[in-house]
Amino acid sequence: MIVRRYAAIVLLMIFLVSPATLLAQTSQTPAPDPNDPIQRIKEEGTKRSEVMQTLSYLSDVIGPRLTASPGMKRANEWTRDQLTKWGLQNAHLEAWGPFGRGWTLKSFSAQVSSPLAIPLIAFPKAWSPGTNGPLTADVIYVDARNDADLAKFKGKLNGKIVLTAPLREVPAHFDAQGTRLNEKELLALADAPEPRPSGGGRGNFGGNRSGFQFAANKLRFFQQEGAAMLIDPSRGDGGTIFVQSAQVASPPPDPNATTPTRGTPPYNKDAKITPQLVLAIEHYNRLVRMLQAGEAVKMTVDLSVAYQDADLMGYNTIAEIPGTELKDEIVMLGGHMDSWHSGTGATDNAAGCAVVMEAVRIIQALGLKPRRTIRIALWSGEEQGLLGSRAYVAKYFGSMQNPATSAAPATGGVANSGNGGGNGNGAAAPAGPTLIKKVDYEKLSAYFNLDNGTGKIRGVYMQGNEGVRSIFRQWLAPFKDMGANTLSISNTGGTDHLAFDGIGLPGFQFIQDEIEYDTRTHHSNQDVFDRIQADDMKQASIIMAAFVYNTAMRDEKLPRKPAPAPAPGSR
Ligand SMILES: [Zn+2]
Repeated sequence: MIVRRYAAIVLLMIFLVSPATLLAQTSQTPAPDPNDPIQRIKEEGTKRSEVMQTLSYLSDVIGPRLTASPGMKRANEWTRDQLTKWGLQNAHLEAWGPFGRGWTLKSFSAQVSSPLAIPLIAFPKAWSPGTNGPLTADVIYVDARNDADLAKFKGKLNGKIVLTAPLREVPAHFDAQGTRLNEKELLALADAPEPRPSGGGRGNFGGNRSGFQFAANKLRFFQQEGAAMLIDPSRGDGGTIFVQSAQVASPPPDPNATTPTRGTPPYNKDAKITPQLVLAIEHYNRLVRMLQAGEAVKMTVDLSVAYQDADLMGYNTIAEIPGTELKDEIVMLGGHMDSWHSGTGATDNAAGCAVVMEAVRIIQALGLKPRRTIRIALWSGEEQGLLGSRAYVAKYFGSMQNPATSAAPATGGVANSGNGGGNGNGAAAPAGPTLIKKVDYEKLSAYFNLDNGTGKIRGVYMQGNEGVRSIFRQWLAPFKDMGANTLSISNTGGTDHLAFDGIGLPGFQFIQDEIEYDTRTHHSNQDVFDRIQADDMKQASIIMAAFVYNTAMRDEKLPRKPAPAPAPGSR
């Protein structure tokens, strides 16, 4: 549609515009200067792009990169070596943690074995234990919607394979699974209201309290009753299944507790987990209907896994292009490299990693000498709660700490080794967390993140930082013809820029086209190389390189939002 409209405009110009006006117009917009760094970035990123090779190695060759798994470690080492090969300096693995144990799948098969053979589309959840050889057992459908329903299954689940949740209808898809942001959606983003100050998407305890409570009760019941295997119906359909972590049964709730008790994560070395699978919805529903028709159904599952608990640390890959006269100041770019395990983590988030790697490769290959140091970070532990980026930010830049704990920060660093001005003078007892700065707090100009899949960049979320609007407006100007010209004052959550934003440092995530992120690829077995759009990846790499380069060259650091005030009466 856009192409057709441009063609019409060109025709109009040819027929209606006088030669004098044409001349004036061409002199106003001269041909792009081939020596302009942004033009050179465009040229390098279009004609000599390596972004798809990088992506293929990360996703096809290395494969899934669950935090603390050997795949993650291999990705850390490969990216370190690749960045070094391109000429970056100080490339290294940086430990954070302790995180917990790794997990790898050694072998897996699951089928219905009686009354007839049915091969199944299924996948074990991460950190699920194995079955110690083939497990053949009766399948039981627990159609429980409350504790009373659950009680009816007492004494009936020992050694059984349990279908844990109600049957779900599977409607046809009348809408396209892949989409790009249209003009109306982009306009809505541009017109979005100022985000509320403490925005960062922290969930509220008690939102769907009874729902969470029942899910926890159900899991505890299954474990107490000695179920051999738990099977969840998958979100998605048509061969796409979404798979994340196994869940650990929590102890019964303490009625006197004022805050929720934190469950044990499955990567905790001592977590006791019942083996867990996710099953394609159409297969799940069929088993339910067979059981409801009175058939005795048996399944055979053979699951073998390995835990890695020799090294409980997580690792980020870090590397730099040293700056020149402002080399003490830093511009960062990054994305998380850890992934889920049923696909190859192509859109979540080898795509973002390949783009930020390509951005520094372009800058390095062109011999552009940035004034500030450009530092790339490929995080791990993002999927478990932005753990790698938060630990890194706490170590070098600062963290929000509760008054009670600020004397002994959990990060193990020095409480305030920097010029920590602006933290108040400690006269009144602060009501909530306070910012404790580290030496590099004043040295970071900005952090740019990419983690919303394969879709090209359409603009930037400004995270409520009005001060960057005119700067970003200028920086986006050369990319209007590539589809990127929207600035939204709004913030977006769910990824590593929040680690920076949370302590008042400029941290940005770009606005990206959705493509098939939520419908097909995000945390699914279809998160693979073939769902990646090569032209979008090239576009994103070019814009990422330009933003990082511009930030490194600018006289001033990027403006910051007002420093985060102590939160009044945090709960
Ligand atoms: Zn994710």
